[in-house]
Amino acid sequence: MSVLYDCHMHSSFSTDSDSPAESMVRRAMDLNLKGICFTEHMDLDYPDFYFPDLSSPFVSDPKEILTEILRLRDLFRSTDPEFRILFGLEFGMQPHLGSRFSDLASAWPLDFIIASQHLVGGLDPYNPEVWEVRTHAELIRSYYEEMLANLKIMPEWDTLGHLDYIIRYIPGRGNMVFDSCEAFPDLIDEILLFLIQSGKCLEVNAAGYKHNLGQPNPAPSILRRYRELGGTRITIGSDAHTPGDIASCFDRIRELLLSLGFGYYTVFRSRIPEEYPL
Ligand SMILES: [Zn+2]
Ligand SMILES: [Zn+2]
Repeated sequence: MSVLYDCHMHSSFSTDSDSPAESMVRRAMDLNLKGICFTEHMDLDYPDFYFPDLSSPFVSDPKEILTEILRLRDLFRSTDPEFRILFGLEFGMQPHLGSRFSDLASAWPLDFIIASQHLVGGLDPYNPEVWEVRTHAELIRSYYEEMLANLKIMPEWDTLGHLDYIIRYIPGRGNMVFDSCEAFPDLIDEILLFLIQSGKCLEVNAAGYKHNLGQPNPAPSILRRYRELGGTRITIGSDAHTPGDIASCFDRIRELLLSLGFGYYTVFRSRIPEEYPL
């Protein structure tokens, strides 16, 4: 088998992508995937000083997305009636957003929700100056602490997106890869146990390869620990922002997951999990 669904991608509805959703579908069909899930950004109250020219950076309009998804389902129905175009969102967690996420989840016919920690201390670690104020290890620890606290109050979500996302952006790391399991074993365990105990999935996100980590997010050491603690449920996504990145490195991810003892991955439809063999 191979991984036939890509459950994390962005199109021009997201601030950081220019790719029309239709081009993403065409590419996925060319790759003989069985389906994709659009997971446009929903980073409510993202700090606006990074994008002074935009009114709501990284906040996508669910109505526009759904309208386009319905159009694409119609358009491609005769080409491949089995191909699934799923409607998801990537919720950027912050402690005060619980009720707004819960309203969104009930207002829209979502297939899938990714809970992602994109900020630390209200700032985006993508920006190098965020790293100048504290030591790298302190900042990374805060990131995981905030993630855990936010997960506990998130009302609606299916998978935890790119758990060690922050390590992509450590300034000047070159080819060095920060080992979160080694640095914060108790904290990583707490996050993984929370996922397992609450029946949620852990996402395996291919963008780590693109960001020169040589591994997905989260790292193999975190995936191994998840298995050791009893975790079996994963989702898989490329986090593509262009058609060329759809399903990228999925063969490497599949091999890694099989070697760690995972047997299946999960795809959500109408928020209901379906399992597929790896
Ligand atoms: Zn993300
Ligand atoms: Zn994303």
